Amino acid sequence: MSEPAKMAGAGVKVEDLVFGYEESRPVLRGVSLDIRPGERFGILGPSGAGKSTLLLHLNGLLWGSGLVRVGDVVVGRETLAAARRKVGLVFENPDDQLFTPTVEEDVAFGPLNLGLSREEARVRVANALARVGLTGFERRTPHRLSLGERKRAALAAVLAMEPEVVAFDEPFSNLNPALVKSLTELIAGLEATVILVSQQMLPALAVCDRVAVLVEGRVVRTGAPAALAADRAFLASAGLDFWNSLEAARAKGIRISLD
Ligand code: ADP
Repeated sequence: MSEPAKMAGAGVKVEDLVFGYEESRPVLRGVSLDIRPGERFGILGPSGAGKSTLLLHLNGLLWGSGLVRVGDVVVGRETLAAARRKVGLVFENPDDQLFTPTVEEDVAFGPLNLGLSREEARVRVANALARVGLTGFERRTPHRLSLGERKRAALAAVLAMEPEVVAFDEPFSNLNPALVKSLTELIAGLEATVILVSQQMLPALAVCDRVAVLVEGRVVRTGAPAALAADRAFLASAGLDFWNSLEAARAKGIRISLD
């Protein structure tokens, strides 16, 4: 029998994380998660639940009370550099990540910052751009690219750091269905632990091995995507019932069936 494939990526543990932007208004109210190495883990929930806030704790952009551990690194002020090497955050708006005149410089920025030589960075850039299908875009100006291309360039900038964990904040927002499909395939194939924050239920359920539902700063459920998708009463209570749009289409006579 062949050896099972070795899982790339670090595990992520969050224990009793509490945080508020203002002291009187907690946003995360004791979040605990245990994400396995190599897992595709979805964090789903309605707008304002605290999903983005949670992601920003993974590499110390925000600090709450409780514990955040990535692989063997407990995220703390002394371990910030190590934590940031392990976790790459892909923001919802790629313009938050692209800030130099060319795609090549944007993607090389992280590796050069890690202390890699120009030549090593060039190899990282070529590999990362190939991974996201942007070979040939090296000299292009990021702000002249389409949103789909900018999102892929921002992902390349993260992948060039070779992080063990890639955390996506709403990666599917404002993408047309063909781009959602190609991004879903790209995410599924990443050699890293993937954390996916999304309100787009179908692509998230399709790509994730396991999901947690965050409502008002609390994890109210963790489990398999199939079980969550089947529990409409729960989905509705969390504001996540995606079946109603399928029903509305059906009610109009649009036949939706994969059989
Ligand atoms: P989600 O990603 O689930 O939509 P967020 O983490 O963005 O939720 O926001 C959770 C709550 O924190 C919301 O009530 C939001 O208004 C508030 N919030 C987010 N960012 C800030 C900020 N920088 N300052 C103050 N409040 C914020």
